[in-house]
Amino acid sequence: MTNDLGSSVHPTRHWHRLDDGRVQCDVCPRACKLREGQRGLCFVRARQDDRVVLTSYGRSSGFCLDPIEKKPLNHFLPGTSVLSFGTAGCNLACKFCQNWDMSKSREMDTLADAASPGTLAEAAASMGAHSVAYTYNDPVIFMEYAMDVADACRERGVHSVAVTAGYICDAPRREFFAHMDAANVDLKAFTEGFYRKICGGQLGAVLDTLLYLHHETDVWLEITTLLIPGENDSSPEIEALSRWVVEHLGPDVPLHFTAFHPDWKMRDTPPTPPATLSRAREIALTNGVRHAFTGNVHDPAGSSTYCHGCGELLIERDWYVLSTWNLTDDGHCRHCGTACAGVFAGPPGQWGRRRQPVRLAEAVPEAAPATASTRIRDL
Ligand code: SF4
Repeated sequence: MTNDLGSSVHPTRHWHRLDDGRVQCDVCPRACKLREGQRGLCFVRARQDDRVVLTSYGRSSGFCLDPIEKKPLNHFLPGTSVLSFGTAGCNLACKFCQNWDMSKSREMDTLADAASPGTLAEAAASMGAHSVAYTYNDPVIFMEYAMDVADACRERGVHSVAVTAGYICDAPRREFFAHMDAANVDLKAFTEGFYRKICGGQLGAVLDTLLYLHHETDVWLEITTLLIPGENDSSPEIEALSRWVVEHLGPDVPLHFTAFHPDWKMRDTPPTPPATLSRAREIALTNGVRHAFTGNVHDPAGSSTYCHGCGELLIERDWYVLSTWNLTDDGHCRHCGTACAGVFAGPPGQWGRRRQPVRLAEAVPEAAPATASTRIRDL
């Protein structure tokens, strides 16, 4: 923790005072207890003037137009583009973090782009993005900013996608996801030991988020598990994960098994062999998951969608390029009429595999210059 507060401060709601004079942040199960000037583990929430504030409101580490399949979301408006952005910090401490330059950043200079919610939503709409994704680092820690962006997006007909580890407490969970249209939740493993040892978190809170999303919201949900050799890739663990998903969330929630590459504090662990991903996909399908995908590897067969009614190829993917398309405009198999779970709206988009870095000032000429606000706003 540090007392070097940044300047883009914004009031927050989920915290309370303790008898010993500290204040406790109630956003995630870490329950950071803060004295004046201290930051929480996520680095972006801090105590200032006897309350907890968000110190990265309105600032981003950068923007990029991506295929929605890259989030990964395979059954949410396939083929469309999504404006991705993130901030800095994270509330987990995963030793394998694949975005550590942003999630572990302790430099507010990382947040070079200033972006008001309205400017960001306007940029997404003007560039034809169907969605905005809160990604790169976990949006639950900058939820006030993400929710305001999502509201501005809704006014313009742009959807919101949360790419999150789902490590969040009940009350903020309800508030945050009420603003989202889709989520990809990282289910990092299926043992408490992995979460404790590798991520510094708890599996139970993540499962609670999955249950909440599936049973109490209309948010379209897909799940991603990054398979790390020797850590979370055993057949019994993948089978247990798959069975839990089918039993508690049903067969229609897509599962993505993606490849790890050596990074951050796990540079001595080898990359995931493609065969591991294929094995995981087979285990999931065998245990009743209807849509299981491999990811981060070139595997057109393993990353395509098939009808669970007749087995026909419904959506063919080669990386992020869609080719064969056998769905009706409302998401039914053209061969047998079985409904495919997902959010489909007419023919697929044509964004392809492009990744296009975006400068907001160019996308929205009246966008504010890259400076941070210093004003604290009251709730
Ligand atoms: S959101 Fe950040 S400050 Fe709040 S409990 Fe979690 S890690 Fe701590």
